[in-house]
Amino acid sequence: MSEVQQTVIYEQAMDLNFLDEVYRIPGGEKIKDCIQCGTCSGSCPVSWAMEETPRKIFAMIRAGMRDKVLDSITIWTCASCYQCMHRCPQEIKITDIMYMLKRMAIRENRQRSKNAAALSRNFFNIVNKKGRNHETSLMMKVVLGTKPLDGINLAPVGLGLVMHNRLPMFGKKIRDIEGLRKIVAKAKELGGE
Ligand code: SF4
Ligand code: SF4
Repeated sequence: MSEVQQTVIYEQAMDLNFLDEVYRIPGGEKIKDCIQCGTCSGSCPVSWAMEETPRKIFAMIRAGMRDKVLDSITIWTCASCYQCMHRCPQEIKITDIMYMLKRMAIRENRQRSKNAAALSRNFFNIVNKKGRNHETSLMMKVVLGTKPLDGINLAPVGLGLVMHNRLPMFGKKIRDIEGLRKIVAKAKELGGE
């Protein structure tokens, strides 16, 4: 393969827009300082469940591999424990960047983001309505909204849990629900999604 052909293939794989988008994330530009030391991967308690380690995700971002990064299960496996961020010698805001990658995947309606997006949207709606989560409603809404046929298999399990008081049938509202809604409204006003 000629040098020109190799360059063409390299440029096709590299999405410069993706690099620019990630660099525009607050703190995203610091990815340029990543020295690929692997401390983040070694500190991550859930790296065993990831397809790509956090270190590799940063290498892939710098290679402009938009699809591979945004379709990776790694960003959804991140448990936001901040261990990596605390230990990174280059002070890269790894956890915050993982959050932003999730948001990008949701905006682009990536397949793997659909269940996670349904979970967080329904969680937010329930908490905004009652001031706390109600697991039974959350599970029903997520399953019916994403994989309704699975609901048929899961219904007996859910019913058994309710009957044995492992899941509450009805959710309870907190006392100062209006106070909480004011906080949420303010967060939205400040640019929260
Ligand atoms: S710990 Fe920081 S510098 Fe090291 S690989 Fe991870 S992101 Fe890069
Ligand atoms: S914040 Fe995410 S990527 Fe970092 S150590 Fe925790 S789980 Fe792993």
